[in-house]
Amino acid sequence: MEFLQPEDWEEALEARAAHPGALPLWGGTDVMVDVNFGRERPEAILDLTRVRALAEWQADGGLLRVGAGVSYTRAIAELGDALPGLAAASRTVGSPQIRNRGTIGGNLGSASPAGDALPPLYASNAEIELASTRGTRRVPIGEFITGPKRNVLEPDELIAAFHVAPAAGPQQFSKVGTRNAMVIAVCSFALALDPDERRVGTCIGSAGPTPIVATEAEAFAGGTLDWDEGGAPSDRDLARFGELVAQAASPIDDVRGSAAYRRHALGVLARRTLAWAWSEL
Ligand SMILES: Cc1cc2nc3c(=O)[nH]c(=O)nc-3n(C[C@H](O)[C@H](O)[C@H](O)COP(=O)(O)OP(=O)(O)OC[C@H]3O[C@@H](n4cnc5c(N)ncnc54)[C@H](O)[C@@H]3O)c2cc1C
Repeated sequence: MEFLQPEDWEEALEARAAHPGALPLWGGTDVMVDVNFGRERPEAILDLTRVRALAEWQADGGLLRVGAGVSYTRAIAELGDALPGLAAASRTVGSPQIRNRGTIGGNLGSASPAGDALPPLYASNAEIELASTRGTRRVPIGEFITGPKRNVLEPDELIAAFHVAPAAGPQQFSKVGTRNAMVIAVCSFALALDPDERRVGTCIGSAGPTPIVATEAEAFAGGTLDWDEGGAPSDRDLARFGELVAQAASPIDDVRGSAAYRRHALGVLARRTLAWAWSEL
């Protein structure tokens, strides 16, 4: 197959426009597995790793703009203070080797419901910046991912970056797997507190065709938490929050776990992450 290796962003967008059948690649930790197992036979590979601009991040008008080529290792080391939920999720990805190669842009590109970087981005209302030779557009993450392994990327577009506000309060991420590393999530849950807005952001991973925001649970917790005095939520309120998160999930039975187990575990993850984040606040 052809191997395209643009030197800069402009060349990358031109190559993408000229070869819509080319498969973009950064870390290759999803792409190469698919190629090796014969699931992908692209006519060309578009290697983006020489496009240094894609590996940069910066503050941008009160938000952070994080290039698609920022690895998990760098997200943990460089963005852990500003985006603690994403950093916590990044720590659970694969192994050190996978975290060095794998990127958040690649997780978005793959759009797996089990992608660990995705729930924290949903819980914080991230927007995805897409670019082509026609221009750029920003899409809320919930509109970017449309189904299992499906997103709205056009054949001539690349993921440039994601935009997200630095954490306004504590953030948590919790994941259930059959062991402690190198494991695809059985289910996961991300939570972000914004005490100024009195908002609780949530997202369920690996228990539906896409990551799922638990809207009713967010409204319940936002309206029930003692934002003025900081009193701990009652066991009853934590249990209700857990129930609402479990109800929002849309899990299936598969090799990693049963739907019933996933629902149960999500209730537990929801209660725990809310209690941890609240005590941190
Ligand atoms: C052993 C192992 C363990 C793993 N463990 C985990 C885990 O715990 N949690 C988890 O979530 N994932 C895990 N993964 C999956 C994978 O590491 C992640 O999905 C990672 O984020 C992919 O990033 P990448 O840079 O390697 O992407 P690539 O493999 O290079 O690309 C992935 C997809 O995104 C597209 N793409 C990449 N960059 C762009 C761009 N700029 N514009 C448009 N499309 C783009 C590619 O075309 C492809 O469709 C694991 C993989 C392996 C092999």
